[in-house]
Amino acid sequence: MFMPHGSCRWRAWGAYRCFHRSKPLLDHAKSGNSPEVPQELLVPAQILAVRNLTPKIKELKLQVEEHSGFTFKAGNWVDFFIDQDGVSKVGGYSMSSIPSSLPELRLAVKTSRHPPAQWCHTLAQPGKWVKLRLSDV
Ligand SMILES: Cc1cc2nc3c(=O)[nH]c(=O)nc-3n(C[C@H](O)[C@H](O)[C@H](O)COP(=O)(O)OP(=O)(O)OC[C@H]3O[C@@H](n4cnc5c(N)ncnc54)[C@H](O)[C@@H]3O)c2cc1C
Repeated sequence: MFMPHGSCRWRAWGAYRCFHRSKPLLDHAKSGNSPEVPQELLVPAQILAVRNLTPKIKELKLQVEEHSGFTFKAGNWVDFFIDQDGVSKVGGYSMSSIPSSLPELRLAVKTSRHPPAQWCHTLAQPGKWVKLRLSDV
């Protein structure tokens, strides 16, 4: 299909490709134990605290494993692997803290019927471990 540069259709296609290339794993239903998920890219993180920011938003304060080398830039997000309590779907959440706070990291998760968000709202608690994978932007 021919799409001249500068046309609306071309710009729309570019935006579509850009969005989908950088989309979180969300509904791929791959758990962190899946052979399709390279284990070396997964960083363990322990939940330190969970609190309500608003009635619909929970904040998770996490501590990424020391010496993992995990870092991020403004605008990055993580694929959030739960792999416990029967949740194998993967969440995708943006960091709400700044890189200089590492190894502590905060995520703000809005309530949803999406299983990972449900887990964050009902079963996430201090001491539990999850795994993170940095977005690839
Ligand atoms: C780059 C990026 C960054 C993001 N950052 C954040 C963030 O910081 N905080 C945040 O809260 N969200 C964030 N999100 C959104 C988050 O990743 C999820 O999309 C969101 O939590 C899903 O909830 P929803 O209600 O919007 O989705 P919905 O569209 O309602 O559902 C999402 C999926 O869940 C499935 N689903 C719904 N109900 C059920 C059910 N009962 N059982 C099984 N599957 C079900 C649906 O089929 C659908 O595929 C981000 C998304 C992107 C793309």
